[in-house]
Amino acid sequence: MIKTTEPLVDSFGRPHNNLRISVTDRCNIRCVYCMPELVEFMPRAQLLNYEEIERVVRVAATLGIDKVRLTGGEPLVRRDLPILIEKLSAVPGIRDVGLTTNGVLLAPLADRLRRAGLERINISLDTMDPEKFRRLTRRDGQEKVIAGILAAKEAGFDPVKVNAVAIRGETEDDVAPLARFAREHGLELRFIEYMPLDAGQQWERAKVLFASEILEILAREVAPLAPIAHQDPKAPALDYDYLDGGGRVGFIASVSRPFCTSCNRLRLTSDGKLRNCLFSLEETDIRALLRGGADDTAIALAFRESVAAKWEGHEINTARFIRPDRLMHSIGG
Ligand code: SAM
Ligand code: SF4
Repeated sequence: MIKTTEPLVDSFGRPHNNLRISVTDRCNIRCVYCMPELVEFMPRAQLLNYEEIERVVRVAATLGIDKVRLTGGEPLVRRDLPILIEKLSAVPGIRDVGLTTNGVLLAPLADRLRRAGLERINISLDTMDPEKFRRLTRRDGQEKVIAGILAAKEAGFDPVKVNAVAIRGETEDDVAPLARFAREHGLELRFIEYMPLDAGQQWERAKVLFASEILEILAREVAPLAPIAHQDPKAPALDYDYLDGGGRVGFIASVSRPFCTSCNRLRLTSDGKLRNCLFSLEETDIRALLRGGADDTAIALAFRESVAAKWEGHEINTARFIRPDRLMHSIGG
């Protein structure tokens, strides 16, 4: 399909080409920084079906969206995910389909996902210690995650990115073991600063382990690093390479170095609400349009209006910050 309209540019001049799609709010584990132990999931009928997601992506692609990432909840608990990946990879204008997963169900699926057209994969793993994994996720299964990571590598994903949430008083001891594991298997480790979207409302700025502190631990216990030469200013990650050639480490420093000024992302929740920021307090009901018989022009207009209303940036670091009602697992991180 040829682009028929102007690209999605907000009132601060930021073009938007990246759509993160949550395919479910359900999850097979219960990370303490994301979900409560007991959680009421959305009725399945409220979730967009694959045809609806594909239609939204077709319309979004005419507006300049060319990258999509499937997330959740845990996207691999949604049945037949490779079929959705096939559909989205075939949408004209979409050049990159990615997936963020906890990896528990990944090992038997990695090859199939790759063949379906999945380009990029990020797997979350916060610790190499199985006992600590059990405490952080309130479930067993760390060995399945590790098997999933190795299967992704085997299936030919390159790079395989491993995401760890960085929490003060929790993550410090995991930094070096995770880094050694990543170096041994040629994985790209990325630390994500803890964000205020946790179920227990335990977040406070003092609990964020900053990228600069992790860099110090890595330099002291693993190997020295230097920032990569050509950082993509639009990329949320700050990337560093080990000076000994041991690979790359990234930091999503949303708290200590917000990347709002170059944000190019929109989010579609599993129940079809468009959010122009992870921390938005307002949403646009795309599902109502889809199920109410709206034509593509109306859906495109809803995207434009959402982008036009985007604020300059989140205010985590100010007293004005208001936590959104939705938790991470229901927004799609
Ligand atoms: N279930 C998948 C997974 O865990 O990779 C995809 C969804 S999860 C919400 C996406 C990412 O958000 C994961 O890497 C997870 O570690 C991260 N995340 C969840 N809660 C977070 C929080 N409060 N602060 C920072 N990152 C968080
Ligand atoms: Fe599930 Fe991912 Fe949230 Fe952990 S971070 S509870 S794996 S959705």
